[in-house]
This record gives sequence, structure tokens and C-alpha cells, in this order.
Amino acid sequence: MVHDLREPLRTISAFTELLVQRIPMGEEDKEIAEFIVNGAARMTVLLDDLLAFSSVGAHEAPQRVDLQRAVVAAYGKPGQAIKGSGAKLTIAQMPTVWGNEGQLVRLFQNLIGNAVKYCGPEPPIIFVCAALKGAAWVIQVRDCGLGIAAENQERVFTPFIRLANRDVPGTGLGLAVCKKIVEGMGGTMWVESQLGAGSTFFFTIPVE
Ligand code: ADP
Repeated sequence: MVHDLREPLRTISAFTELLVQRIPMGEEDKEIAEFIVNGAARMTVLLDDLLAFSSVGAHEAPQRVDLQRAVVAAYGKPGQAIKGSGAKLTIAQMPTVWGNEGQLVRLFQNLIGNAVKYCGPEPPIIFVCAALKGAAWVIQVRDCGLGIAAENQERVFTPFIRLANRDVPGTGLGLAVCKKIVEGMGGTMWVESQLGAGSTFFFTIPVE
């Protein structure tokens, strides 16, 4: 469904570019055409994220997933700009759990990606660890970044809620995707944070 929605956006971009080639235009008109093409590109990213959000929980048989490997895979994903950020990632010993590997990688990718995006002026320092509490693993992804004010700590998991400046790329769906993945595995997710003092995102995964 969402794939069909992307088709008109491709048409808008392609025909705007064609107009620029066919009609002699001044610099100002070319700039307007560029706004149209950029707007279509931003909408495409939004649709991709919506697709990711809507496809979470599509039923797949759970498999054994080594969380250490999932974090490493998330960190190495291209397009995340993590590698070039000078980020320092420490991974403590992680368990193997029942879940969907692709979704767990996406979960860590979103959390580590955010830790990098919202790190503030210093290079990002990220710590990932796990502890067994009763019948569930409690996983933590901690950063030393900008932090989140108490009144926003629940809201950030709501789809399309963004606290960041408009010039920071994002759709406001990253944490909503994370929460949906965690809840789909029978867990819960929350954040503890202080403005200016970093954030720790927690989620639980039932042991069996
Ligand atoms: P996006 O990053 O696309 O805005 P998210 O759903 O991933 O969407 O995050 C929602 C908002 O929560 C962000 O706009 C940002 O303000 C805040 N946020 C998320 N992760 C962090 C973090 N690690 N540190 C500080 N703020 C964060």
C-alpha cells in the first residue's frame, strides 16, 4: 500500500526536473523547482518510516537472537552516519533472546542513531548493557547527550512527536517503532533522562 503511495512522489520529482530542463528558467524559478523536489524526497522518507512502523509485528516465527550481534549489526548499518560521528560505543555482555532479528537490529539502530543525532557538542558516548530481572531481560542504551525534559519523556514514544529542531533530519517515528517492536515481544519501554545530562532508554524482553 505504502509502496503505491510513493509512485505520485516519483512523478512529481521526475516531471518537475523535466520542466527545469525544458523551460528556460531564472535562478529563482529553479530554486522553487528544487523546493518541490526536496519536498517530495522528504515525503518519501516519511512514507518509508510509516511503512516500517506499520509492518512491525507482522507475524514471523520468533528465532534465537544474539543481542551482541544485533547491536554490532545496528552500529555497522550504512546510512546511519554513526561511523563518521566519532561515536564511542561500549557493549557489555549481552544475552541471547527469542525475537525477530531484523526488528531487534532496527530497535538498536534507532536508539544508537538517536544517541548520535542528539549528542550535543561532544562526540557521542554510548553504553549498551543487559541485566536479568525476574523473568525478563532489562536492556539499557545510555548516552551522554542532550537529554529529555521530564514532561516529554512519555511523549517522545508517540508517533510524529519531535522535540528536535526542524533542521535535524527525522520523522518522529523512530521511538514509536522501537516501542511497537518491544511491546510486540511482550516487553515494555521507557526512558530516564535529565536535560543536559544524557538519556537512558530501557526496554524489557521476557526470558521465554
Ligand atoms: P526523530 O529522531 O525522527 O525526531 P524519534 O521518535 O526517534 O524521532 O525521537 C523523538 C524525539 O525524541 C526526537 O525528536 C528528539 O527530540 C527526542 N530524542 C530521541 N532520542 C533522544 C536522545 N537519545 N537524546 C535526546 N533526545 C532524544
